[in-house]
Amino acid sequence: MPIQAIHQFPQGFLWGCATAAHQVEGQNVNDWWRWEQTPGHVYRNQKSGRACDWWSGRYVEDFDRAADMHNNSQRISIEWSRIEPEPGRWDDYALERYRDMLKALVERGMRPLVTLHHFTNPLWIADQDGWLWDEAPTYFERYVRKVVETLGDLCSFWCTINEPAVYATGGFSLGIWPPGKRSGSALSHVMFNMIRGHAAAYHAIKEIQPESEVGFSIHYLGLKPSIPTLIHLPATSMLDLYVNKAFILSLLDGYARVPVGKRIPVRGLKGALDWIGLQYYQQFQVTFNPLKPGSFFIQQRKPNNMPVGPGTWGGLYPEAIFDIVKTFWNTVKKPIYITESGVPDPDDTIRPDYLIRTVRSLWKAANFNFPVRGFFFWSLLDNFEWAEGFDPRFNFGLYKTNFETQERTPRLSAKLYGEICAKNGLSTDTVARYTPELLPALFPGEVGLAEVKLKPR
Ligand code: BGC
Repeated sequence: MPIQAIHQFPQGFLWGCATAAHQVEGQNVNDWWRWEQTPGHVYRNQKSGRACDWWSGRYVEDFDRAADMHNNSQRISIEWSRIEPEPGRWDDYALERYRDMLKALVERGMRPLVTLHHFTNPLWIADQDGWLWDEAPTYFERYVRKVVETLGDLCSFWCTINEPAVYATGGFSLGIWPPGKRSGSALSHVMFNMIRGHAAAYHAIKEIQPESEVGFSIHYLGLKPSIPTLIHLPATSMLDLYVNKAFILSLLDGYARVPVGKRIPVRGLKGALDWIGLQYYQQFQVTFNPLKPGSFFIQQRKPNNMPVGPGTWGGLYPEAIFDIVKTFWNTVKKPIYITESGVPDPDDTIRPDYLIRTVRSLWKAANFNFPVRGFFFWSLLDNFEWAEGFDPRFNFGLYKTNFETQERTPRLSAKLYGEICAKNGLSTDTVARYTPELLPALFPGEVGLAEVKLKPR
């Protein structure tokens, strides 16, 4: 009888997938839609178009897929430009559509986690320079109130803003996302306004729904100095502070940490957080480079000591998730959800290994009693990957999407994730069938190894 061991997760752990409105819904008219119209902005000048066709109702079959994978939660986002296409004009049809979506999740036994801002803005906000506009946080709060008042009976788990530093960097520093600006001061100001927007939204939601759980998500970049010397270490810490920590540290004491080196008090900011969303994908090496004044003399490179992703994508090192959870718990002392984690991999050659190693590392964190409460895989299906458009190298889905026919095909990882979610854990049997080469590292006991190895998929 082979020994069956299992890395069991705590009861009530949330398992789900994550998506974002503009990447899956299709037919959106927002600042990204406008950006896509200009050649050169998106891979092969592609447009989001129908995306995954959720707005026409295809979310229903995709939610079935998630439920079939035994997901007990699902992270989706709501598109501000649909709810409020013009200032103060609320679109009841859009609100009804989102009601249908949330109902569909609840009916399938999945707890909705709703993101209120995932990179996109209504055109009328974009026309005022997006979050560079000092009124943006106030209008964001008004929109958030409308959503929570209307849909709060179906959702009490909210993520105010997705990855503020990524939005700010892409659109206002690198200029590769709308509105295409390249300015250090704009970057800081946008971050500052997003901090204000988060605080305002947090209090608005709690006022309407005191029992709600409100947090936000950060994109955590694994950063290591290229060589740990006196020159490269400070460059790494500076980037780490800005990319990974500025937002969260600001919430701890109520002083915004932007621009870097400043501490500006923000009303309502201190402690405005019930949980923290960590999104972890990749690692980089950091170098101080005197020839790069435009990027504060900091250069970020693909690591040379691990497998790396396509294009500018960094190194793949899923085990880092344990240390990230530990660091954040020690700093913030709030429950943690992994609100995104995944890998670009059209052929699904890396994903099973990446997923299993991520879950193993997370299991360790959960069972060392760090309060990590859920995991949302990015993504349920291939979708519109921003400036990478539909470039197959950036397919993140457990399901493959054929964007011509809207047909979905499960990748092997979908079956694997379904097993993990069903068991609320990672078993020897699962590891043996999907990544036998990981068995000795994950379950080093010898007895019965041969038998489990022989089982077919
Ligand atoms: C974003 C997603 C994106 C994913 C993969 C995350 O930073 O929240 O919108 O698709 O990374 O690049």
